[in-house]
Amino acid sequence: MFYHAKELQFNARVSAPDPRFARLLLEQFGGANGELKAAMQYFVQAFGVKQVYPDKYDMLMDIATEEFSHLEIVGATIQMLLKGVNGELKDAADAEEITTTLLDGKEKKETYIHDAMINPHFFALSGGGPVVTDSNGVPWSGMYVNANTDLTVDLRSNMGAESRAKIVYEHLMQYTDDPYVKETLRFLMTREIAHFQMFEAALETIQPNFPPGILQGDPKHSNTYYNMSKGMDARGPWNEGKSTQLGEEWIFIEDPQKHVVETNGLTEREPEGTDRTEESVAEQNSLLAAERSGEIKAAVPAEGEAQWSHFPEDGQPGRR
Ligand code: MN
Ligand code: MN
Repeated sequence: MFYHAKELQFNARVSAPDPRFARLLLEQFGGANGELKAAMQYFVQAFGVKQVYPDKYDMLMDIATEEFSHLEIVGATIQMLLKGVNGELKDAADAEEITTTLLDGKEKKETYIHDAMINPHFFALSGGGPVVTDSNGVPWSGMYVNANTDLTVDLRSNMGAESRAKIVYEHLMQYTDDPYVKETLRFLMTREIAHFQMFEAALETIQPNFPPGILQGDPKHSNTYYNMSKGMDARGPWNEGKSTQLGEEWIFIEDPQKHVVETNGLTEREPEGTDRTEESVAEQNSLLAAERSGEIKAAVPAEGEAQWSHFPEDGQPGRR
């Protein structure tokens, strides 16, 4: 269950209202790389690992819950940046009052109308609160959530998600001079740096973790680089020397078209620069499949009653 504490995780403050920055900040509320996406991604991923990897479940739920706390900070900041918008809209019954006193004459009203036109979701739709969209008003989507119930895939997705969240905060910080808002954004950005390393460390505890999933790659195709253009051909550790994970020799295929024709569309290509063979691949596939399905079978009874929690929840999650 979730239990709400009324204190924010970080003491979010603003110096003054700024509806324009509030709109930009919506990107981290309901955007593709925002806090709701992060919270939902780790929350959804956690279901599939609770019984098999209780230690990773604990981590995913802790980070998901922290992301909900970030969502709360972003929402609170947007609300503070919109101070005034809500009150003025509620004065609709007295249009004259808005123009002459609250808005300090016609010039200020013109500014207000301009703000409404570039910010319709605050000024016309929500009336001065956050909405679950990105900064362009595109509604949040479950399609932002990447969860494949394989930790070697999901933890890598999470490192990508944290990288994107970090860079969006870095961009946002360039559009506000408010020292309080900058302080909050810096905190949120820094937590993404911390989370990245948590997911990276968790991935390292799962061995082997490459390639993602169970099935090993075809040794004929795991270490070839196709030179798909003419002209300046850059060389680097991505196409010469040994590959980063499998440690195979990169084979640079200078003329891919000729190579494809000569090998009958690659079907007659022989492996080179690798110790892996069809036999070793088959052996590794069945070993890993047995190990991973064994972990699941041992942790999750196939038949009969099921119970998600224990009351009280049992002790410390196992360390792997
Ligand atoms: Mn966050
Ligand atoms: Mn994060």
